[in-house]
Amino acid sequence: MDETEFIWMDGKLVPWKDAKIHVLTHTLHYGGGVFEGVRFYETDKGQAIFRLKEHTDRLFKSAEVFEMEIPFSKEEINKSTLEIVKINKVKSGYVRHMGYFGYGKMGLNPKGAPVNVLIAVWPWGTYLGEEAVRIKIPKIIKLHPESTDPNAKICGNYANSILASIEIKRDGYDEALLLDYKGNIAEGPGENIFMVKDGKIYTPPLGNVLPGITRDSVIQIAKDEGFEVEEKVLTKEDIFNADEAFFTGTAAEVTAIASLNDKPIGEKAPGPITVKLKTIYLDAVQGKIPKYESWLSYVN
Ligand code: PMP
Repeated sequence: MDETEFIWMDGKLVPWKDAKIHVLTHTLHYGGGVFEGVRFYETDKGQAIFRLKEHTDRLFKSAEVFEMEIPFSKEEINKSTLEIVKINKVKSGYVRHMGYFGYGKMGLNPKGAPVNVLIAVWPWGTYLGEEAVRIKIPKIIKLHPESTDPNAKICGNYANSILASIEIKRDGYDEALLLDYKGNIAEGPGENIFMVKDGKIYTPPLGNVLPGITRDSVIQIAKDEGFEVEEKVLTKEDIFNADEAFFTGTAAEVTAIASLNDKPIGEKAPGPITVKLKTIYLDAVQGKIPKYESWLSYVN
């Protein structure tokens, strides 16, 4: 990965190479951490962080699931994020926030372990590439919503995403599409999914998928463009029969899906509605659309 100069650790700017933790850090052992992935882009007014406030809100909501008390206010995290982006002088890239149970206590109950926070920044290009992706439904299913909290970005939840990714990469696919415990479509390992049929846009309802901030942005953009958007339980047959399908995510942005389990989706990918929404999304994140500028936090 591309290194930058400093990582923010518990309020201090630490040189990248020195940003280390103890091997007996609680979260490293049990996965009881919470994190965020945020992107920032180059705009005409300098760098801008996309929907920073919403990401910080979600970080704090995720922390509540573990009764983890983040020892900073949301305002301090937002301000420090702007600072660390500015200091590292990367034009566009990714921000990783993490709240984690630190060193000093073992055993599953984290009560009594210190809570540490980090904010790191690095340049990160397209996550799934520019081309439409070939996806596959893995054998492994999305975690049961009552086994964990699907609304929270909890480190341990990602064991599920890692297993799905290993499985489909081994078979030569670009990305996984996980089913939920009922056999309906859930989401990608790090993306929400949308499909288009007869000009209408569909995405699975919340409850068993991460409430993606890109998902929310794309729903808003689509509605502003006059499309009907329905949050609906989707089956794999729905995706097979769709005219278009695409993933959304901070890292993945809007990525067209070419095929599911080798069956092409629609006539050609990316389809016209995917292209339209992707173009507007990428313009919005770069501050080119005044009505979406309130989504941006300018660094300068
Ligand atoms: N689902 C999962 C499981 C994810 O990890 C992500 C990435 N955060 C998403 C969906 C997309 O969320 P967002 O648009 O907020 O990045």
